[in-house]
Amino acid sequence: MLSKPASTLTGDLQALSYVRPEPDSAWGTYLAQVDSVIPYLGSLSRWADTLKRPKRALIVDIPIEMDDGTVRHFEGYRVQHNLSRGPGKGGVRYHPGVTLEEVMALSAWMTVKNAAVNLPYGGAKGGVRVDPHQLSVRELEKVTRRYTSEIGLLIGPQRDIPAPDVNTNGQIMAWMMDTYSANVGATATGVVTGKPVHLGGSLGRVKATGRGVFIAGREALRRQKLALEGVRVAVQGFGNVGSVAAELFAQAGARVVAVQDDTGTVYRDAGLDVPALQAHRAEHGSVQGFAGAEPLDDERFWDVPCDILIPAALEGQITADRATRLQAWMVLEGANGPTVPAADAVLAERGILVVPDVICNAGGVTVSYFEWVQDFSSYFWTEAEINDRLDKIMVDALGAIWDKADALQISLRTAAFAVACERILLARQDRGLYP
Ligand code: NAD
Repeated sequence: MLSKPASTLTGDLQALSYVRPEPDSAWGTYLAQVDSVIPYLGSLSRWADTLKRPKRALIVDIPIEMDDGTVRHFEGYRVQHNLSRGPGKGGVRYHPGVTLEEVMALSAWMTVKNAAVNLPYGGAKGGVRVDPHQLSVRELEKVTRRYTSEIGLLIGPQRDIPAPDVNTNGQIMAWMMDTYSANVGATATGVVTGKPVHLGGSLGRVKATGRGVFIAGREALRRQKLALEGVRVAVQGFGNVGSVAAELFAQAGARVVAVQDDTGTVYRDAGLDVPALQAHRAEHGSVQGFAGAEPLDDERFWDVPCDILIPAALEGQITADRATRLQAWMVLEGANGPTVPAADAVLAERGILVVPDVICNAGGVTVSYFEWVQDFSSYFWTEAEINDRLDKIMVDALGAIWDKADALQISLRTAAFAVACERILLARQDRGLYP
């Protein structure tokens, strides 16, 4: 019998073999965040390794016949990071840069986020390596339907419930719901959230994440006894999250001075007309060329004079270098994982307050939870009821995290992870291990 090479017999058998995270990668960032909270977990720290590995990860092939008759293959993922507190919950991202490692990190942040706001969910996330802007509508529908069918092994209203994320929207959720329903032979509205309202969606869901970012910012200002009127806000990412956060800050009297999307950056010291910029983006697909502002070099965005910075695009955007140049005194993390660990240290040293993603952008999943509850009872609430409940959950969750941070003299991020990880690991401990 052939013996195995010695190298496969040694090595760290506790380490995952399928990712080699770099410190500033999304998964590397998440692991560093978990490590920083372990000293605050007491006897529950015994279970902390469960946070450092996904429960399960599925990689799927998505073969599509394109409009021109060629066949192309796309790679898709669905990762369930942790299901200790309930079914998996988390969005689906379409982006050419999506990788398994990125989806793992995003699923893990969902576990932490759902626990931080005390929603009865675990954490999951999905993604497809595709540039949806290069597809026709028909091709996009085919990718969505085949992806949904392939991950049908894992998803379901009681098992794992996807939602929109970068480059996905209500139409894509409608196709996902229809495909899953066709496969199981019954309409299952509760299999995804973020659906159009006439298909079991919830009022208030489209704006919920941006609204949550605004509520988090409003509360953070109130806690510091600072006024909202006149504060200068810079927003990176002008999609679902960034454009709504900008709109609500402007409505409340703030000055949105800079906006950046993947095509360029616009600046106006007196404050941008946000509805006009939204209309420009809807017409031209980008913020570039907006008449009511001056264009700015993209890298200048990071030292623009402002009070609040809202990263609402992708992870890893606030690097250590950019953190040294920021003029803002508060960062509201609309995006998931926008700040790398080295930058977090710089921001802390500079006394810049960071309201972390796992609480700051939790408004979306909170209203997704409302949508899921409404779908089960087939009884729908008014938009005012949704927004009131969202406000209360966000204020209470941020308040508990703020108090913990004050009590232990730790950052809001570490406090949010401490509150969340205690809940996750308590569930793990009390459920016990099988067998
Ligand atoms: P979206 O697709 O609606 O918008 C993304 C925006 O980011 C676009 O304006 C795009 O141009 C911009 N962008 C992309 N790459 C960029 C780059 N390199 N530089 C500058 N801008 C860039 O996506 P979204 O739903 O608004 O999500 C944005 C972030 O918020 C993501 O991190 C996502 O995971 C997170 N998030 C979204 C939700 C939700 O409900 N949609 C909930 C929680 C967190």
